[in-house]
Amino acid sequence: MGNPIEIKKFSKLQNVGTTVWKRNERERYRVRCVNEAYELLRECLPFDEDEKRLSKVESLRLSIIYIRHLEAILLDERHAQGCNCFDEFQRQLIETESKRFR
Ligand SMILES: [Zn+2]
Repeated sequence: MGNPIEIKKFSKLQNVGTTVWKRNERERYRVRCVNEAYELLRECLPFDEDEKRLSKVESLRLSIIYIRHLEAILLDERHAQGCNCFDEFQRQLIETESKRFR
């Protein structure tokens, strides 16, 4: 280790390791933030996750439907009585579940 060339090689390798570690750490942080945001979003949705956990795509789709449903209620509160906003989503959920268990 007394050779300055060896020391230089070693510190260069160490730098690469640190960069990769930092990149991985940033990515883990980003994924954690996204997952936490989805958790918060799921808490706002009219969906009981005891039986099934919504995927990210399903959470986004249900959010869009829910926002449109709430808008419809704001325009006409009678909307809630004959509402079928969630029918298609529910049908798709059942369909994907049955595919999963096949
Ligand atoms: Zn509706």
